[in-house]
Amino acid sequence: MDFEKILEHCAIFSIDAALLAVFYRLYKEKSNCAQNLKEAQHFEINNDLIRKVEDSGGTIPYASVTGKVKALSSPLQSDHTPLRGVMQEKIINEYKIRWIPSLRIWSPVDNNINRKVASVPFSLIGEAKSLFQKKRAVEIINPFLAEELVLNEVYNNYRKYDESFGETIIGFLSREHTVGIKEVENMLLENTTLTAIGKLTIENENLKMSPPDGNVTYFLTTLSYDSLYNKINSHARLYKGITIVMGIITSVLIAYYGKKIYEEIRRRIDRRRDLQRYLEAKKHASKSSSSKKVSGYKPPKCVVCLEDPVEMIVLDCGHACLCFNCADRRLQTCPMCRKSIHRLIPVYMP
Ligand SMILES: [Zn+2]
Ligand SMILES: [Zn+2]
Repeated sequence: MDFEKILEHCAIFSIDAALLAVFYRLYKEKSNCAQNLKEAQHFEINNDLIRKVEDSGGTIPYASVTGKVKALSSPLQSDHTPLRGVMQEKIINEYKIRWIPSLRIWSPVDNNINRKVASVPFSLIGEAKSLFQKKRAVEIINPFLAEELVLNEVYNNYRKYDESFGETIIGFLSREHTVGIKEVENMLLENTTLTAIGKLTIENENLKMSPPDGNVTYFLTTLSYDSLYNKINSHARLYKGITIVMGIITSVLIAYYGKKIYEEIRRRIDRRRDLQRYLEAKKHASKSSSSKKVSGYKPPKCVVCLEDPVEMIVLDCGHACLCFNCADRRLQTCPMCRKSIHRLIPVYMP
């Protein structure tokens, strides 16, 4: 095996091992998340909830509640519609084109995106079972830290941008023009039914839901608890499947490279042994038969050093072209035909 081949094999193996590690981590994350969700306690938002939280020492580490969104102060007003909500995201996207001289075309470039978010404190309100029962609420703390919360798109408008004369001149000089502007407004509207899963605590008779302690995920979602659990669980199963496939590929690669390395070590041992044998045979021969040289006969010279006589034959190609010293220099390929050297056998000239 030459150096480039070894590097190539190492690269393939490292990419495979890195992918295996990534998918295993994703699988672990999702399966831990699904496990935590399974263990979360479910509560209805009603008069009993305060007592239940108090009975648990004022904190429930991972609880799930469902209720309707209600602002605790005046709600946010949508810029473009009469809708009102508690979380708002405004995105302005500028579409530009730039002249590419090498290709002689106008090409779209990275959009200049401007994103603004705002929120007001809000609670989830439970359904009152009777007219005389007071509605109970759970205040949601740090909603932007929660996962799975998808805001409603309340406005989406793309308009062609008309450049002023000055902008056209600047665009001509800088070879860049603004062609359109897209404005999107997303909101979490009041009265949306949300499921919140996090740490439920009681503070001055008020219930609060906040990000859970440790490595546990905080969720705010319009999905029901069951749909959320199924979603996370199906992701975990998908990553598990990919991890198993990557594991099998890694095992096959380990077996394949292990065999290759073993064969290479064997080949080197064989080669060393062949050379050793030859050396001994040569010593023996020079002692006993130095007088029997055929007069006038010139043995062929080694093609590497062009000095010593040929003493070794290369297998599998069969070229008799190396002296002992050059054969000993760990050549990988035959100097005559570039085929790889599997064995070196001594050759005895008359
Ligand atoms: Zn030589
Ligand atoms: Zn050869």
